[in-house]
Amino acid sequence: MLDTLFIDVILPLPVPNFFTYRVPNELNDDVIIGQRVIVPFGRGGKLYTALVKAKHHTPPKDYQAKYLYVILDNHPIVNEKQLKHWDWIADYYLAYPGDIFNAAIPGALKLSSETKFVINRNTEFNVDDLTDNEYQVHEALTIREVLTLSDVAEILSVKNIHQIIKSLIEKNIIIVVEEINEKYKPKVVQFIRLTPFADNEDNLPSIFDDLSRAKKQLAALMSFVQLSNRYQQITYEVPKLNLQKKANVSSSVINQLVEKNIFEIYDVVVNRLDDYGKEVEDVKSLNEHQTKAYNEIKASFKQHDTTLLHGVTGSGKTEIYIQLIKETIKEGKQVLYLLPEIALTTQLIVRLQKVFGDTVGVYHSKFNENERVEVWNEVLNFNLSANKENKRFQIIMGARSAMFLPYNNLGLIVIDEEHENTFKQFDPSPRYNARDASIVLAKLHKAKVLLGSATPAIETYWNAKENKYGLVELNYRHGKVLLPEILCADIKEATRKKQMKSHFSPLLIENMEEAFKNKEQVILFQNRRGYAPYMICEDCGNVPECNNCDVSLTYYKYTHQLKCHYCGISKNMPSKCLACGSSRISLKGFGTEQIEEELALFFPKIRITRMDADSTKSKNAYQKIINDFEEHQIDVLVGTQMVTKGLDFNNVSLVGILNADNMLKFPDFRAFERAYQMMSQVSGRAGRTKRGKVIIQTYEPYHPIIRQVMDSNYLEMFTDEMQQRKKFNYPPYCRLISFTLKHKDQNKLNIGADEFTNTLKKKFGTRVLGPEYPAVSRVKNYYQKKVLIKIERKISVTKARDLILEVKHHFEAFSNYKSVRISIDVDPY
Ligand SMILES: [Zn+2]
Ligand SMILES: [Zn+2]
Repeated sequence: MLDTLFIDVILPLPVPNFFTYRVPNELNDDVIIGQRVIVPFGRGGKLYTALVKAKHHTPPKDYQAKYLYVILDNHPIVNEKQLKHWDWIADYYLAYPGDIFNAAIPGALKLSSETKFVINRNTEFNVDDLTDNEYQVHEALTIREVLTLSDVAEILSVKNIHQIIKSLIEKNIIIVVEEINEKYKPKVVQFIRLTPFADNEDNLPSIFDDLSRAKKQLAALMSFVQLSNRYQQITYEVPKLNLQKKANVSSSVINQLVEKNIFEIYDVVVNRLDDYGKEVEDVKSLNEHQTKAYNEIKASFKQHDTTLLHGVTGSGKTEIYIQLIKETIKEGKQVLYLLPEIALTTQLIVRLQKVFGDTVGVYHSKFNENERVEVWNEVLNFNLSANKENKRFQIIMGARSAMFLPYNNLGLIVIDEEHENTFKQFDPSPRYNARDASIVLAKLHKAKVLLGSATPAIETYWNAKENKYGLVELNYRHGKVLLPEILCADIKEATRKKQMKSHFSPLLIENMEEAFKNKEQVILFQNRRGYAPYMICEDCGNVPECNNCDVSLTYYKYTHQLKCHYCGISKNMPSKCLACGSSRISLKGFGTEQIEEELALFFPKIRITRMDADSTKSKNAYQKIINDFEEHQIDVLVGTQMVTKGLDFNNVSLVGILNADNMLKFPDFRAFERAYQMMSQVSGRAGRTKRGKVIIQTYEPYHPIIRQVMDSNYLEMFTDEMQQRKKFNYPPYCRLISFTLKHKDQNKLNIGADEFTNTLKKKFGTRVLGPEYPAVSRVKNYYQKKVLIKIERKISVTKARDLILEVKHHFEAFSNYKSVRISIDVDPY
């Protein structure tokens, strides 16, 4: 008797459970955990690509299992370690398995319900070899060109079409296409080789004789000899395009040689991702302080799986990472190097490629689908290769999504600038922190984690202090350069004395003049974009706001428009107040655009460029700004927090922070921590080769955070913050879980939010805070309210989670206000 086999699958949908399907008996031996399968789901029997999560013999209790339709893979595309990691993410962050599936897998590997098949025109086959059913499908396709899975089911009027489809796919007769995403296509390059006739030396005289009157063809042949390195010990393959370029001939010349039976063209599937293609350099040796830190990290790894390297800006943390990476790959293990933002770190990628060449692969969400699938497969194949010769992409550098690649044997995870909040995914679900989730991933691989930062997150430093993580301090800058001299410009005083030149203090102006005189470069940091954050009518006090969101509109002078930073709409600047008609309208506050404009007035000969989300929208804009600044085509870079992140420029001697106060006043329990991190990081951009200067403009020169930035006193900031966190019960003393409730109808939202909160309070008591409107209470026409739970660290997460889910499911099932949408964010910072 045959076994009846069932599989549990992850559907790419926000449903809480795994779903069980029956495996057709003839596929029992083919089903493997981690494979993709096509299954019908829902009332209309829509088809989805799902992932096999488990195999067993237990039929589902409450429903009749349907058959799976097709197995898409011959081997798993997701491994068991990944599935365990996903379980943890789903559990800890209260996310649906389908959300994680969607976040983890490149879109091109997911076929939606609209999965379609077409004939593969590149395959020749004998129709007689097809079974009757296969023949029918093939016939139908020649007439209709495209069939969906349901079409196939209809045509054949048999229930289990999986075998037929699978067989047709395996025979390369049909291919699967996806409607939304372009189908993954390998990139093919044409290469040239000699025909056996031309490869025979006896025929050479007649060939050269023949070509003596065809100069271009002869040139092509000679170039081929050179490029292929023929008649030498090692020969190379010759791409057709390279040959054309070298010989300076057109494609038709090559074709003439093909006709003369001298050349042959052949196709090679190449990697779409650029090869490094240059010689690699030796790893730089470490200085005395780096060596010490390196040895301490090695020692720390013996006791701690996770270690924090707290090293001041410019101390050369990257060189230490490189040493550790080098050792890890020597052991045949993989390395994941997580970066806060890939676009801002091209400098770093180049540095690693210089040392490791093609061993380095890059992965992030801005890659197109094909590129993402290729990296995915490279990493997957690395696992499958028994020998360790396939070193390509053994090191992956990437933003947070790189954590989801199919690693099988990680040895080390480096998380650079671990304090950055770009490691946190806010929307959509799964709302995870890649730093924390990577530490869990490392455990599954028995790998080590190195967290690096000059300004560690409070909770990370606390974990190190509590001996949960190892801690290594590196307090010396590389090349004996001193940390920059940080000065404070008292704006209040300068304003009183009428010394301010618009937004510039005399101290900042003087130092800029000095820098320009010495042909040095300047970075100015202002954490607001646009020209002015809001405008106000002097007569009636009206402030123009967005129609869809409850925020004031930012004024952009270049386009003379008002723009919403939340929903992106823009409208023309009105010439008079829309409320009272007065034309006495004034602009308040200032953004990067205004700084750029004023600077040009004060320093007409200076070359200024702005770097913010507005000026770096096009694909290569960011890279161009960096290159121009590196080559000193730009004297001043004015930017938002983009300029604070890990850039290395040799010639920057001055950094100006234009308005420290708006960072300190941000309504968030982490405002001080963030302000300290941002100011310290941007200060670190100054004086990489000789001592630099930083000027902080503020109304509160004696604010503790300003003093701590000036003294580079991280420890004092940490101690102060911990006291505050303890006093007001904030992380790391408790765990935060935040709920956002949304609805277009404000009234429904209010009642629904109250009902939800009251039920929560029954389970969690005074730990529940809210509901409250957040600072921006309406975004894109949805009103929102926040509810917060503060949970003691000693309470089991599992227990809290179960209670929360119970409340949420009950609300979603029985409330009169179930149309109010609830999203959950665990550790929402
Ligand atoms: Zn008015
Ligand atoms: Zn808006």
